[in-house]
Amino acid sequence: MTPLLEVEGLTKSFGGLRALDGATLAVAEGEIAGLIGPNGSGKTTLFNVVTGYERADAGDVRLRGRSISSAGPDRIFALGIGRTFQLTRIFARLSVLENMLVATQRHEGWARSVFRAAGSPAERKQALELLEFVGIAKLASLPAGNLSYGQRKLLELAYVLVADPDVILLDEPAGGVNPSLLHHIADRIRAVNAAGKTLLIVEHDMEFVMYLCGRIMVLHQGRVLTTGTPEQVQRDPAVLDAYLGGAEDEDDELDVAAVQL
Ligand code: ADP
Ligand code: MG
Repeated sequence: MTPLLEVEGLTKSFGGLRALDGATLAVAEGEIAGLIGPNGSGKTTLFNVVTGYERADAGDVRLRGRSISSAGPDRIFALGIGRTFQLTRIFARLSVLENMLVATQRHEGWARSVFRAAGSPAERKQALELLEFVGIAKLASLPAGNLSYGQRKLLELAYVLVADPDVILLDEPAGGVNPSLLHHIADRIRAVNAAGKTLLIVEHDMEFVMYLCGRIMVLHQGRVLTTGTPEQVQRDPAVLDAYLGGAEDEDDELDVAAVQL
């Protein structure tokens, strides 16, 4: 069966730095797949290339077997790949609901949508339902800038769901989130998956990844080092080497220690 999303031989350099170096992976319809790797291993760059925010130097990205490598971000969004960003991108002065309405009108273009954030009754209803689904409907009228970091992550998740994408890429959904909200976020991601969405998650918090993902791919220096179940990845000595050998800060070591790799 053709995987829903395929990344083949992606290469991307920034000046002399090779952020992606022949990265190849596939995501099957219906799974929650994890993409892990030390800081700087190319995870966000891979997301950026897949979603059209960066153009690869070589390689291909396919959705349902069709190449989407030459499409831009809005086209790829429309084709059914939604994403969140490592650092949330919300309009701090707009209300939570208005941020959602911007998403509903994104296909009309960013600039216009910001000025038309009122939305039709049907759009407002859908937006509120999605806020309800992620658990922040009570906060709908607050300025989005007042949300906690974890609540912003939930808003971004609701925002992505507006377009009803087939595949959702989440870049560090647990990053910087208060531990009290982590379980809720994991639960909502599961619910999104149960509703038929395929997910690819980049996450630094190993416990979170291992809990959520059936299959984990490990990126190291821009290429996939290993793919396996959480148990297989945890036991793979090459993975530990990649983290400890490549560690430039203590974060990597702490994360690895947390799962006793
Ligand atoms: P990760 O998300 O795995 O931490 P990134 O994909 O963000 O890694 O970065 C991979 C490498 O590419 C890093 O060395 C980073 O500094 C570099 N890089 C990423 N984006 C850019 C950019 N726009 N310009 C220059 N270097 C970049
Ligand atoms: Mg990153």
